[in-house]
Amino acid sequence: MALIVQKYGGTSVGTPERIEHVAEKVIKTKEAGNDVVVVVSAMSGETNRLIDLAKAIHPRPPARELDMLLSTGEQVTISLLTMALEKRGHAARCYTGAQVKILTDSAHSKARIQEIDAKVVSEDLKVGRIVVVAGFQGVDSTGAITTLGRGGSDTTAVALAAALKADECQIYTDVDGVYTTDPRVVSKARRLERITFEEMLEMASLGSKILQIRSVEFAGKYHVPLRVLSTFEEGPGTLITFEDENMEEPLISGIAFNRDEAKLTVLGAPDRPGIAGAILGPISEANIEVDMIVQNVSQSGATDFTFTVHRNEYERALDILQGSAKDMEAKEVYGDPKIVKLSLVGVGMRSHAGVASRMFKTLADEGINIQMISTSEIKISVVIDEKYLELGVRALHTAFGLDEDGTQLRDEGKDAG
Ligand code: ADP
Ligand code: ASP
Ligand code: MG
Repeated sequence: MALIVQKYGGTSVGTPERIEHVAEKVIKTKEAGNDVVVVVSAMSGETNRLIDLAKAIHPRPPARELDMLLSTGEQVTISLLTMALEKRGHAARCYTGAQVKILTDSAHSKARIQEIDAKVVSEDLKVGRIVVVAGFQGVDSTGAITTLGRGGSDTTAVALAAALKADECQIYTDVDGVYTTDPRVVSKARRLERITFEEMLEMASLGSKILQIRSVEFAGKYHVPLRVLSTFEEGPGTLITFEDENMEEPLISGIAFNRDEAKLTVLGAPDRPGIAGAILGPISEANIEVDMIVQNVSQSGATDFTFTVHRNEYERALDILQGSAKDMEAKEVYGDPKIVKLSLVGVGMRSHAGVASRMFKTLADEGINIQMISTSEIKISVVIDEKYLELGVRALHTAFGLDEDGTQLRDEGKDAG
């Protein structure tokens, strides 16, 4: 008998009919002879609705109380799904994160899971019950309810699968797998049979919202077999794999993009040791995460310094920067919140210098200006004006042979780039 953890996202449980449909799927898995633990999200739109409610009362809702509110979205769906299972004659029980003892730190709205007890879950499974657990939430050492960040139900599922040593963790969603890029932006995007864990981690951290980053980190750390599938269509989905030694790698596996960034620049800062620290120190003290950083050194003893932050932090970062720029006698500060980051990801590019130049030429041919560049072994990211996002992603998708009807470029040991 296998133990399967299944997670159903917001769209999959968005209406009573869909919850009934999920119940049918869960029962099918159970009747095939498996133990089943189900993690569910709030009904689609519900978490946003709750955030708006909070903001109607308080412009900056206290984090502890906001988490209390947001956790109720998932509490609705666990009970409804469990009722649907019971109605069909199956013994089932539902639990909130706190009841399962999903212990987290106290970083409200972005809490990290530290430990899962899950004894109640194991005991229910032993007597043949289906167990339904609320995603996205936990409890800290003081007993306060915490949430795990947007998309956090993915992480609940993978962490539970790790704690219970499940045979597979299945993430059911509204697309039938992981695609070469967001299929809502590129209609020619292609579903991947498999993707390496390393690539999935890059895709997630570079903005692909199909899986929360932390769920992929968990899967990697505990070697949880992970699959992304559709709630609405049968199919194999996409398997996240750990070994790829002998596989013929595509040069590029996917294109990720992130619309949530903003760019800040300090112009004409004095070019002396310590200047980067002087600019970024106050930003990090304010707990604002910095992503890309570029510094241009000019000949006249001045330097231009540019970095990106989350768009939600843009105003705050700009305020801080205006203060510190005055102190260091920089010429000017300006910002641009209307940028996006676009990234090519692929373990196959490791040995290929040509990928970057092909990427830059493709964007140039479309008249798209590149504002910043950053690279690592298996990814290249550029910052461009947000109005070119769709155009840029589609052009690159075609240029790198990712279109459904295209010929995929592969790493055949020679420079294909
Ligand atoms: P859920 O509510 O089930 O968690 P999400 O909206 O969080 O679903 O994630 C699924 C969505 O992720 C898809 O509808 C799709 O638009 C988006 N997406 C972004 N990048 C990709 C990708 N590379 N492959 C598939 N889907 C992607
Ligand atoms: N309901 C939460 C959200 O909308 C968590 C999740 O769906 O994974 O972000
Ligand atoms: Mg999600």
